[in-house]
Amino acid sequence: MKKDKAEKGTSAQLEDPTVKYPQPPFKKQQQSWPGLAANMEPRPDHGESSYQGSGRLAGRKALITGGDSGIGRAAAIAYAREGADVAINYHPDEEQDAQEVVALIKEEGRIAIALPGDLRDESFCETLVQKAVEGLGGLDILVNNAARQQTQESILDITSEAFDATMKTNVYAPFWITKAALPHLKPGACIIGTTSVQAQDPSPELFDYAQTKAATTNYIRSLAKQLGPKGIRVNGVAPGPIWTPLQVSGGATMEKLKQFGGDTPLGRPGQPAELASLYVELADNTGSYSTGQIFGAAGGGGQP
Ligand code: NAD
Ligand code: MG
Repeated sequence: MKKDKAEKGTSAQLEDPTVKYPQPPFKKQQQSWPGLAANMEPRPDHGESSYQGSGRLAGRKALITGGDSGIGRAAAIAYAREGADVAINYHPDEEQDAQEVVALIKEEGRIAIALPGDLRDESFCETLVQKAVEGLGGLDILVNNAARQQTQESILDITSEAFDATMKTNVYAPFWITKAALPHLKPGACIIGTTSVQAQDPSPELFDYAQTKAATTNYIRSLAKQLGPKGIRVNGVAPGPIWTPLQVSGGATMEKLKQFGGDTPLGRPGQPAELASLYVELADNTGSYSTGQIFGAAGGGGQP
């Protein structure tokens, strides 16, 4: 008996997004910065057992900052499963998370390069790009994803040192890394920045962080105009509340954490895995007319 195409393939089950993943209330938990995905409860889903690739990024060479955990890890897993070689940067205290990602990339038969180091240091940012280019044999995709977020009730509680650390990590590092990477990027290459709903709708307790995300959205739009004629696309992803170590290591108050994502129309936080396909789409040739755009994933709350 003849079967049509739809019958032959396995059909994708409809999934109700409101109950697909854990909902609040969450258990109280606090880790010291920068936190580990391995110690979160429940453990975030980065697509370890769910993301299926189809060769969309075969042979590409990607550098992802903050690739050890959270959204960066989800992008790293997806890129490797789509056929890319991947270098990840992370803070030295995150070696445990990073090694899990390295193993997952290698399982796909792809090159995995682990590049620990502190992004607040300009010379490290330059070395990072150099080592990624050497290890990968070039660079096609740069994902500026790492960030620092520390919640403070009042502006009076933010020291100059803390303010500086947030600016260095979130604003300076992408500037230094992008400058170092640009000479290696050819037409068709892309830069992706992780911004936030905070860029448009800042929370009172994220005074410094929210400013940096407005800066991120802005550099994406400016750089896209600058690099468009060179054939290099620059886009951003604006997440809403996502279940990652950043939130349990000073990024949110305990009160906010317990109800995390509960105020979105979907009633729960997003999982990093739910953003992976956006990072793939923005790097893929199929997204070739999108540049200077911000793509949201915020459970129905916030606007990119
Ligand atoms: P995460 O903690 O998993 O990732 C952040 C990463 O930043 C860390 O893993 C760490 O490797 C890196 N990092 C921070 N400071 C560093 C430093 N000085 N040197 C080297 N690495 C450093 O959390 P995440 O939520 O996946 O964060 C990824 C991106 O998503 C960030 O840009 C964040 O602003 C953005 N974002 C997150 C949310 C959310 O709710 N989780 C919402 C909007 C935007
Ligand atoms: Mg981490």
